[in-house]
Amino acid sequence: MLTQDHRYTGRFAPSPTGPLHFGSLITAVASYCDAKAQQGTWIVRIEDTDIPRIYPGSEQHILRCLDAFEFESDVDIIFQKDRLDIYEHVLTQLKQKNLIYACQCTRKILGPNHIYTGTCRDLKLPFEQHAIRVKVSDQNICFTDRLQGTHCCNLKEQLGDFVLKRRDGIINYQLAVVVDDYLQGMTHIVRGADLLDNTERQIWLGSLLGYPTLQYMHLPLAMNAQGQKLSKQNLALALDIQNAPKLLQHAIMALGQRPVDLDQPHKMLAQAVAQWNIQHIPQGTQMNDIYQ
Ligand code: GLU
Repeated sequence: MLTQDHRYTGRFAPSPTGPLHFGSLITAVASYCDAKAQQGTWIVRIEDTDIPRIYPGSEQHILRCLDAFEFESDVDIIFQKDRLDIYEHVLTQLKQKNLIYACQCTRKILGPNHIYTGTCRDLKLPFEQHAIRVKVSDQNICFTDRLQGTHCCNLKEQLGDFVLKRRDGIINYQLAVVVDDYLQGMTHIVRGADLLDNTERQIWLGSLLGYPTLQYMHLPLAMNAQGQKLSKQNLALALDIQNAPKLLQHAIMALGQRPVDLDQPHKMLAQAVAQWNIQHIPQGTQMNDIYQ
């Protein structure tokens, strides 16, 4: 297990559910610049536990993009699908402390608002072939995001006990992300504002496991001219690796930073790090009409 030190450690953690697009590049640039501007470590991690959602070829596209944009992970890139035994081990720890339970409810039972009321909490169902949920408590969890300010959630009222492992055996993102952020010694999380609402779940899970708290910065999301978030579903263009310097410049400027000299990507990144100022990142949770 890695030891925790307090030096800045951050990461870029794409899921290979489609090729990287301009929105992903913004996250990569911001997480990289923020870490390097504080003499930190920056790590790439591929979040591929959700096997059915993996888009063929996208893992290779991510790696090719990182190469073309000359991003270098400070430690070997890890793939979460190779780490399932680690997540299972953490589930065992939680089970021993009676913090999780097996659940047989289907999504339909949850009703339209998807709040889970704990129907299976005391049923003592076997863990095999059932979803595994973690217990939450009736308390307000708050954190102060470096860009978005204070954000709170009462998990019991707004969500209920949530799933860590699906019935089909897939380890949920919430569990894998919390465990790996801890094991890789993360101190700072920089990611898109679409993940803001996941944060209290991750803070809660981390606190049950005794992990230290992290600093969060949720970036405004890049929206296309139709007001939709750039995503695979909305057919955001795959990053064109032939055009890396120009795209990099656009991403730096979308983050409100001063333009850099068009050059080899690693030189542009070095200049962006030297000029990095989070006070210039656009306010709010959306950036409209973003070039892609
Ligand atoms: N893997 C997630 C995604 O691609 C990001 C996870 C995170 O940054 O916490 O949306």
